[in-house]
Amino acid sequence: MSKGTAAKGLKRNKGRLHIRCRRCGKAAYHKIKSVCSSCGYGNSAKLRRYNWCKKTVSKIRIIAKIKQHMNKRKKSGFKLGK
Ligand SMILES: [Zn+2]
Repeated sequence: MSKGTAAKGLKRNKGRLHIRCRRCGKAAYHKIKSVCSSCGYGNSAKLRRYNWCKKTVSKIRIIAKIKQHMNKRKKSGFKLGK
């Protein structure tokens, strides 16, 4: 590279633009935008979802159901049967 600060274009081409997302684990986290293109981490607290993507919608529903169940168990103090 030459002397001085490189142009912005060179900044983008260095290495990978998308790195592993710490929320969903996919390599979809944009380094410069600091937003995950898969789950929307960095953009919103809620998971990124669209009704045209049925797979994601169903997956998120399952996760929500598991969380609900775990909260119920937490309230009762994780008791097992009688
Ligand atoms: Zn993500």
